[in-house]
Amino acid sequence: MSKLTRFSVAPLSDMTRQLADVASGRSAPDLVITGARVLSTYSERMLDDREIWISGGRIAAMKPAGSYLGKAASFYDVKGGIIAPGLVDPHLHIESSMVTACAYAEAALLNGTTTIFCDSHEIGNVMDVAGVEAMLEDARQAPLSIFLTVPSTVPATGPEMETAGGDLTPEKIARIFDKWPEAVALGEKWTSFP
Ligand SMILES: [Zn+2]
Repeated sequence: MSKLTRFSVAPLSDMTRQLADVASGRSAPDLVITGARVLSTYSERMLDDREIWISGGRIAAMKPAGSYLGKAASFYDVKGGIIAPGLVDPHLHIESSMVTACAYAEAALLNGTTTIFCDSHEIGNVMDVAGVEAMLEDARQAPLSIFLTVPSTVPATGPEMETAGGDLTPEKIARIFDKWPEAVALGEKWTSFP
């Protein structure tokens, strides 16, 4: 079985026809998770006795439990367990946890977080672009969606206040945006000391 990362799931735009075929019963799902209570964040209600049809790592359909009658799919009965959307953490510094991105992913996923936006300004302050990119390489191996908000204030002050190992100039930040599709925004901005 190939390693599960967010890059092993095809873009939604490439999968709409396949997902529609599964949802309408024209082709079989890879997996049916049945016997579930599903938390609907739209209606703020728990939906009892549901099953979810999965294809290509994506949800194709949610149906009443027992709807899928085919034989090809794998079945997993969660026996009344709750299925909820993954939590999104919009700002954190993986380095503050003193672990790698993959180790962070394990703890985050076990607690329901499926997407994070990290700002690698701590490693950037020590190792400049090389540190930011090393963390991104590691993040790509994690089964967690990890996006980068590019550190915007490295160093935070100036040579009279600190001896930083990194100096992320606007040119370097632009190159990170060009190179890494997971770079989606600028990171936190600190007010410079006088
Ligand atoms: Zn922060």
